[in-house]
Amino acid sequence: MAMAPRRRTLLKVIVLGDSGVGKTSLMNQYVNKKFSQQYKATIGADFLTKEVLIEDRLVTLQIWDTAGQERFQSLGVAFYRGADCCVLVYDVNAKRTFNTLGTWHDEFINQAGPSDPKQFPFILVGNKVDLDAGSRRVVPEKKAKDWCVSKGDIPYFETSAKDDYNVDPAFLCIAKLALEHEHDQDIYFNSVAEQGPKTEGQTSGCAC
Ligand code: GDP
Ligand code: MG
Repeated sequence: MAMAPRRRTLLKVIVLGDSGVGKTSLMNQYVNKKFSQQYKATIGADFLTKEVLIEDRLVTLQIWDTAGQERFQSLGVAFYRGADCCVLVYDVNAKRTFNTLGTWHDEFINQAGPSDPKQFPFILVGNKVDLDAGSRRVVPEKKAKDWCVSKGDIPYFETSAKDDYNVDPAFLCIAKLALEHEHDQDIYFNSVAEQGPKTEGQTSGCAC
């Protein structure tokens, strides 16, 4: 019989990008394996959850949707609070949605305030690659990859929420990055704690 997973981890995933790029559709495809052509600004919930097994760890992804407020860019602190990673989405057929990525990236860093912005786990997703068999595409892959390099080598995925193309790999990648980042932070905090002054009665060594 398989061993039970050792630990349970909750990761808060934020999905950001212009209205209409397919954020809700990507989440819905990933979590519910469903796609709708109909434009719905909100799914009526703050987040969707999905459990994934990553190297014998049961990880609950709590994926936050913007519920349409991204048009006004007032998502509020609660939306960003405690974020473990961020998925930036644009539409490969709409240049404007690519040009605003920098603003979304800055917005996330300003609002979420990660302690080490350069190491924080981001991925970029270019969605709707299925549209008219790619004939309406305006943002070349190379341009998107160059942008990723300029932001510290963040991973890039081209997806179709409609055809369920590359959706699982994109979310799995961000979950793995977030876990690695969490691990690096644990090491950092433990070593800081070790260097600190010891008070009487305090036991040495790691608590885990
Ligand atoms: P959001 O505003 O970023 O959450 O975008 P939505 O998920 O609501 O999608 C906006 C519109 O684009 C909807 O009509 C979707 O059906 C459509 N859409 C989303 N993803 C895709 C895709 O991969 N391919 C195509 N062809 N249409 C998509
Ligand atoms: Mg939406």
